[in-house]
Amino acid sequence: MAEVTSATAVLALLQAHPALALAMAFLSPLVIAVFYLGLRGPGAASVPPLGPRAEGTPPPAEVAAAAESAERARAPLPSELARGRPSRLREGLVQTRRALLGRIEGVLGGRKLDAPLLDELESLLFTADLGVKTAESLLERVRQRAVGADPPTVRGILRAAILEKLRRVEPAKGTTLGLAARPHVILVLGVNGSGKTTTIGKLAARHVALGRKVVLGAADTFRAAAIEQLQAWGERTGASVIAGRPGGDPSAVAFDTLKAAVARGADVAIIDTAGRLQTKLPLLEELKKIVRVMEREVSGAPHESLLVLDANTGQNALSQARVFTDAARVTALALTKLDGTAKGGVIVGLADELGIPLKFVGVGEGIEDLRDFSAEEFVAALFDERGGEEA
Ligand code: GDP
Ligand code: MG
Repeated sequence: MAEVTSATAVLALLQAHPALALAMAFLSPLVIAVFYLGLRGPGAASVPPLGPRAEGTPPPAEVAAAAESAERARAPLPSELARGRPSRLREGLVQTRRALLGRIEGVLGGRKLDAPLLDELESLLFTADLGVKTAESLLERVRQRAVGADPPTVRGILRAAILEKLRRVEPAKGTTLGLAARPHVILVLGVNGSGKTTTIGKLAARHVALGRKVVLGAADTFRAAAIEQLQAWGERTGASVIAGRPGGDPSAVAFDTLKAAVARGADVAIIDTAGRLQTKLPLLEELKKIVRVMEREVSGAPHESLLVLDANTGQNALSQARVFTDAARVTALALTKLDGTAKGGVIVGLADELGIPLKFVGVGEGIEDLRDFSAEEFVAALFDERGGEEA
């Protein structure tokens, strides 16, 4: 009210004395500028302000500089390239955390565990992408140990049960990039779009960061774009890429890749494959043929068959895994796209029902976004605890 009155008074004064109004209009920016410079001290006028601007948009140069520094901040360190960047897992799991833990907390509320609450917990776990068998076994654990318990205890029992299941498929620390031979041959399997080529790129980057010579084989000859995508990763990581014609014979590319890897003294050869699950039989026969060719060319090859599964596919990931394990001796899994999905709970079902070692988790599209799977790190991120990430 007081402000309105004083503003009206000033207006009336200016109307009465137009010359005064004119003088104020000219002088006020000057007064403000002098006051501002005085505050900042000599020489300060040429230095752009550090803090965010109070109003208006910053000049383009400032925007560009900020974007550049943000870009620099995102650029991975060599150590991050070799291991994958830790904080991404916690960030990435935000939706899964909400979908699983958030709902569990919601159901538990402040209540002690009784029969009605157990029923609610049951329907929650059965719809949480864990898989029926896994949900049932978690529930059984709670039934046995937590009836009458308070929410933190129930939460703790669930945490321990999940951790136990994940530990069974966790790789021994520091072993995920181990080499069994030279060249160490890795065959990468999975349906289209699961993230094979991207995972190969990230994996190549990690091997290259350890000073290894890497050859990639573009045996997904189905689409020209798939070959180009692998070539782009080759350029990005410094790995060489062996490719054939689009539509060509995948096992011929696998053969050429291993031949080149041997001739060049490469440490690692990674073979990309096509994943047309709809043409199930020919695909699986094609995979068997690729494996036969590899075995002939390098003894013991493929030393690893890495199946790439997309966490977004939830329970479908489990059935995909079964199809591929029928065709090839899958030695390890990589679970991609754990960022940006609420279905990350599938990891527990995969661990529980397949028991295949889970080597890697993909937590983004960036070159540094392939982490070694750590059960403790995963559970800490899922339960939103600090301190489990430094592994
Ligand atoms: P492929 O058909 O199995 O070779 O799958 P691609 O490697 O081409 O990946 C399919 C899409 O998934 C691409 O857009 C990738 O960038 C994306 N992608 C792969 N891994 C991840 C991941 O961990 N997180 C996210 N957000 N995207 C991923
Ligand atoms: Mg691909």
